Amino acid sequence: MEPITGGCLCGRVRYEASARPRVHYCHCTMCRRATGSAFAVLAWIPENSLRWVGEGRPRERRSSPIARRSFCDRCGTPISLSYDGRDEVALHAGTLDRADAFAPGYHYGVESRLPWADCGVVLPAGPTEERWGGA
Ligand SMILES: [Zn+2]
Ligand SMILES: [Zn+2]
Repeated sequence: MEPITGGCLCGRVRYEASARPRVHYCHCTMCRRATGSAFAVLAWIPENSLRWVGEGRPRERRSSPIARRSFCDRCGTPISLSYDGRDEVALHAGTLDRADAFAPGYHYGVESRLPWADCGVVLPAGPTEERWGGA
């Protein structure tokens, strides 16, 4: 397949990946804070299929005892989520150049789903173990 490509709002962080992503909605409180949005759409790929190709690299910070998140430190775009000990990484689907080509297949973190977030209501759904602990 063609490589998937994407990057941040300002263009400093750019990536390429050779794998087809597994895409889902995440309604968890962590993704909500990290994106500043009602929910995240995450595109998971094997970590070893991802290459950073822009002039900048995302800045990574620990977001919980089990996860790290990265963002562009020039424009603030959230870029990725990684759980410790896993060999895959989730790109925020909004950073994909062709986000339209990869529709979400399921929901996650549904215990925190906002009642008015009515995207993909007919999809299978499961909970998450990661929750925001407050400011
Ligand atoms: Zn940027
Ligand atoms: Zn989440």
